[in-house]
Amino acid sequence: MSLLDDLRGQLSALDAQHLRRVRRANQIPCDAKMRVDGRELLSFCSNDYLGLAADPTVAKALIESVVRYGVGAGASHLVSGHYDVHERLEARLAAFTGCERALYFTTGYMANVGVIPALIGRGDAIFADRLIHASLVDGALLSRANLVRYAHNDVAALARALEESSASNKLIVTDAVFSMDGDIAPLAELLALAEQHDAWLLVDDAHGFGVLGPQGRGTLAEAGLDSWRIVLIGTLGKAAGVSGAFAAGHADVIEWLLQKARTGIFTTASPPILAEALLASIDLIERGDFRRERLHTMVDNFRGSLKLRRWQLLPSRTAIQPVLIGDNAEALRVSDALRDAGVLVPAIRPPTVPPGTARLRVSLSARHEVEDVLRLADLLNALEEF
Ligand code: PMP
Repeated sequence: MSLLDDLRGQLSALDAQHLRRVRRANQIPCDAKMRVDGRELLSFCSNDYLGLAADPTVAKALIESVVRYGVGAGASHLVSGHYDVHERLEARLAAFTGCERALYFTTGYMANVGVIPALIGRGDAIFADRLIHASLVDGALLSRANLVRYAHNDVAALARALEESSASNKLIVTDAVFSMDGDIAPLAELLALAEQHDAWLLVDDAHGFGVLGPQGRGTLAEAGLDSWRIVLIGTLGKAAGVSGAFAAGHADVIEWLLQKARTGIFTTASPPILAEALLASIDLIERGDFRRERLHTMVDNFRGSLKLRRWQLLPSRTAIQPVLIGDNAEALRVSDALRDAGVLVPAIRPPTVPPGTARLRVSLSARHEVEDVLRLADLLNALEEF
């Protein structure tokens, strides 16, 4: 039993450090509210920034396509699991993001873990922002390239690291919108450095796609950046409200990823019905300025009503509005107190964020009402007093 006892000991250690995670089973479709154990709770947890996860138009596209495609793809894309609707989706994503070509993956995690080792390998070097998403770290580790982390959004530190490197193949990796901070990478400067040092630039726009840029085309479109050396990753389970992801860029780069990204090759293609739902969702994103305006109204109201002294509202103009608390136990206590008051906000603790930076990750959605956001701000203002 020693292996099992060991594991139990480690679980207890998680409890002692306030790091054990629990899941809550929602009983209703994704919305501003959740129902957990029969109790309605106002939710600031989801990444459904535009409120499309339960949109009737998207749901209808899925239901109608199941008659045509059935449920499962039946095989991987390169065998026989690739459908005409996958082709249409990839063409739509390429046109929407202004890239030559796009490649669809089953999840963002899979895209990142597949794309990085396809671009770079042993003896090469990856330069990654300290706060990149875990899936990018895992992709970097899997590539066996030398991984250099630079301080968050610190362009000078990145420039120094690039200058010191003798690797011939280099890849710079960043989130466009940082998933636990909500701030935006200095993409123009990163691209300039990539050009100067002849490096690839991978930009994970999981949280900007659909939210930022004209018609929600993403953070790169907002910044007006375009280059063959940029590989854009977008995810489709957040603002797009469904699931999946894509890599987009120069046609030859995407062809290479199709040939080499193992997480796209050795896995069953995602159901074609999801691609049909995604096509409907991208139409709604494109025509969704009113949803983005609503989301920004929520952001403005939240930021304008918080009056914090000890805790810190991190600078962010995106849907991710983190309240930095610091201590794990305190972050958990505040999250619990909010839940007792009927409001769900996740306490994000290490290893998801660096030690000492536990926080409430408030995520806002076009589905919220202004009064929901004011309620959360009032509760936080009151809780900070204790
Ligand atoms: N990249 C970033 C920046 C993310 O925040 C996430 C999801 N939290 C992912 C990738 C993974 O995407 P998916 O959920 O589609 O696997």
